[in-house]
Amino acid sequence: MERYETDILVIGSGLAGCAAALSAARQGVQVMVLTKDVQVEESNTWYAQGGIIYRGKFDAPEILAGDIIAAGAGLCSPEAVGLLSREGPRLVQQLLIEDLGVPFDLADDDSGALDLTAEAAHSVARIAHRKDTTGRSIEASLVEALRQDPKVTILTGRTAIDLLTLSHHSREPKDVYPPPTCAGAHVFNQATHRVETFMAKQTVLAAGGLGRIFLHTSNPPIARGDGIAMAYRAGARCINMQYVQFHPTTLYDGDERFLISESMRGEGARLIDTHGREFMQDYHPEGSLAPRDIVARGIHQMMHKTGAPCAYLDIRHKPADWIRTRFPRIHAKCLEVGIDITERPIPVVPAAHYSCGGVAVDAWGRSSLHRLWAVGEVSCTGVHGANRLASTSLLECLLWGTRAGEAASNAVKQDRHYLPDINLWKYETEPVDPALVAQDWLTIRHTMWNYVGLVRSTKRLDRAHQILRELHLEIDRFYAKAELSDSIIGLRNGIQTALVVLLAAREARESRGCHYRVD
Ligand SMILES: Cc1cc2nc3c(=O)[nH]c(=O)nc-3n(C[C@H](O)[C@H](O)[C@H](O)COP(=O)(O)OP(=O)(O)OC[C@H]3O[C@@H](n4cnc5c(N)ncnc54)[C@H](O)[C@@H]3O)c2cc1C
Repeated sequence: MERYETDILVIGSGLAGCAAALSAARQGVQVMVLTKDVQVEESNTWYAQGGIIYRGKFDAPEILAGDIIAAGAGLCSPEAVGLLSREGPRLVQQLLIEDLGVPFDLADDDSGALDLTAEAAHSVARIAHRKDTTGRSIEASLVEALRQDPKVTILTGRTAIDLLTLSHHSREPKDVYPPPTCAGAHVFNQATHRVETFMAKQTVLAAGGLGRIFLHTSNPPIARGDGIAMAYRAGARCINMQYVQFHPTTLYDGDERFLISESMRGEGARLIDTHGREFMQDYHPEGSLAPRDIVARGIHQMMHKTGAPCAYLDIRHKPADWIRTRFPRIHAKCLEVGIDITERPIPVVPAAHYSCGGVAVDAWGRSSLHRLWAVGEVSCTGVHGANRLASTSLLECLLWGTRAGEAASNAVKQDRHYLPDINLWKYETEPVDPALVAQDWLTIRHTMWNYVGLVRSTKRLDRAHQILRELHLEIDRFYAKAELSDSIIGLRNGIQTALVVLLAAREARESRGCHYRVD
């Protein structure tokens, strides 16, 4: 078995993982970054469109904090929100703009100021963006900085299987450390089909979200809940898992759901039904600009009432040239499916978008497991409460990633570490039938969408529980004998994470934010 040792292991190379790796490397420690995709940039971050919170003209940390807390339905942690509001915009200025030179769009007035846009439930225009491809500009700048840093090694095509905890995996006496101590990860090398052991003094989990456990999602295939499943199995505390945010507007075409950014409504686009009537006023005084969960449920209810397969988003009041310049990616994507958004409204449906819950962490990203840190969408810092305000996620990834990288590298320097021997991996050889994997995924995704989706009830959740519990047992049996692959690892994680979300939703009897129960 191949064994690697490093000061800090970062699992995931989206914004949170890259920010953690960069800040740790700049403290002088050795960092290894693993990602399961062959492209280091492939991540939810890459697809982020709308932007990242900066500072509006008449803005202040208290105003931003007020907006985040209002969207979070009273469940945000005031300390975490305060930290994000005070420190986040400063870090955008220092790290992204001044240090890495992320090319955010500038205002038309030659002042050199950023072009700041508004989004739903923001009381001022404060979102910095790079056209409608902000995520990829930020990710590309960070990856470039990591590639140039001699302290950082990036390894792609590596799927983390499980976190190593000394009580579970060590071959040595169990009392060397207090029991719940993380010491790295078992990792599947997709090229060699071998399992590698990555031993780390400190481990940063940055494996992103879980949208793919739902039938309709804005998330790419990497977001199948691997991080939550690994953390949960290792015994880390996970919280608020019932709060899965559904984005109101994804393109209704074929199987994949391409996101239509909230900033389009920020720029004045209106939601209409098949008769061209603006229906969101029926559900909220702010109409199309109401908070995300309300808009998503409004669309869902309108579709339910009228039998329409989708709603429409209409931006035709803006000049065609302006639309093409401001939303080039959305414009091009819709053209690919035959819709010119300068002439026709866009057919849209809601889709699973963001996990507000995750591995519980403190202000430095420290989890309940010794030597395990969690950052980005896989974590729950307390910022989002029961519902996330648009464009806070990238900021949270940046801030907590940077802080966790710094704190973990301080721990490397201060603590006494010893990396023990780990049990050998026992390979199994039963070939995996892809038809079983495909069908199990369909069961997970349909069950989660229909019974644990936008609108939940005891009956639906109980039904989902029966189906998923049974499937979990079956997949576990199957996994125990299966020849290892990224796909079987993902399936095991998908069912585990689906159950974690489901169990949290069953426990939470009160409708709040994006957890909505009709009963
Ligand atoms: C379409 C879309 C648009 C969005 N727009 C915005 C926006 O405008 N503003 C905003 O603030 N937020 C936005 N979001 C949300 C935001 O992009 C994400 O929450 C954020 O990027 C998450 O970053 P992350 O680093 O935590 O995870 P990700 O960027 O998803 O990165 C996760 C990483 O973990 C790796 N990984 C996963 N499992 C494993 C495993 N088992 N082993 C090894 N590696 C693994 C992945 O390959 C990837 O590298 C958007 C999200 C989507 C999907």
